[in-house]
Amino acid sequence: MAGSKFAYVRNFELPDPLLPGTFMVLRLDGHSFHRFSDVHGFAKPNDVRALKLLDHAATDLMDQYPDIVLGFGESDEFSFLLKKSASLYNRRHAKILSTLTSHFTASVTFRWSTYFPDTPLQYPPTFDGRIVLYPGIKEVRDYFSWRQADTHINNLHNTAFWALVQQGGESTSQAHSTLKGTQSKDKHELLFTRFGVNYNAVDERFRKGSVLVRQQEQQGSHPDSPSPEAKAKANASKPAVVILHCDIIKDEFWDSRPEILS
Ligand code: ATP
Ligand code: ATP
Ligand code: MG
Ligand code: MG
Ligand code: MG
Ligand code: MG
Repeated sequence: MAGSKFAYVRNFELPDPLLPGTFMVLRLDGHSFHRFSDVHGFAKPNDVRALKLLDHAATDLMDQYPDIVLGFGESDEFSFLLKKSASLYNRRHAKILSTLTSHFTASVTFRWSTYFPDTPLQYPPTFDGRIVLYPGIKEVRDYFSWRQADTHINNLHNTAFWALVQQGGESTSQAHSTLKGTQSKDKHELLFTRFGVNYNAVDERFRKGSVLVRQQEQQGSHPDSPSPEAKAKANASKPAVVILHCDIIKDEFWDSRPEILS
């Protein structure tokens, strides 16, 4: 199709390819979710509805984009690892970043009423997004270790902080000063002696975040020999995305899933 005399402006749109053969990590983070969580009455320190809502949006994204091999979520953020060989949208940076951020964001609004049936959405939640390229396995592992260590530090702090406020009757500024300068072991101690909370027994969802991986249907999950049609269907079906709350810092997670970093 011949263009108009205006079409030359298209030439100002420059290519923005992401380096081939590198791991892409997309991280999305809720914009001003401190305010968003206040306005929508999130439970503190951890609103399970909100965490499950984000898990669902992340599952939607992974269902749509097979190049995503791992997701990790905590608080108002989610990270996604795309396989090294991903050729999605010819690795165009803006196309991938904007489309995936938009898809996740739209899913959060689309699924809102499932998780917050009694809380009308007051305004549209939005997310910022960035893609960082990592050259090798070490950096990818360290990236996810960084996010899970952050989950642990923040959750321990928030659990202690809200125990002081909700059970200890402290104001938020008193709770801040009570915790100022405390180490991890002091917070464990405080939770146990003052509030009878064994931090290590706190829900793993809160302590470890959400880990989304693809899990092929287990062999032998159909005990009474399935029909050829059922077999064909099972083989054709793509691996389901499953949500775990497990350690991703130690080797075991990665050793048992070599396909993630292949
Ligand atoms: P920014 O736009 O810079 O990201 P922000 O207000 O979103 O600002 P974050 O550092 O991303 O700041 O922190 C997100 C905040 O949202 C948390 O500190 C917490 O107050 C709130 N929040 C997010 N998810 C939950 C949840 N599931 N339960 C309770 N509070 C939550
Ligand atoms: P891409 O993801 O590459 O943008 P696309 O299918 O969105 O693919 P576009 O070139 O953006 O392709 O074209 C958008 C198409 O959506 C139009 O060709 C038309 O078929 C349809 N469309 C968009 N808006 C309307 C509308 N208001 N009424 C009818 N059709 C529409
Ligand atoms: Mg931020
Ligand atoms: Mg945020
Ligand atoms: Mg955040
Ligand atoms: Mg279009």
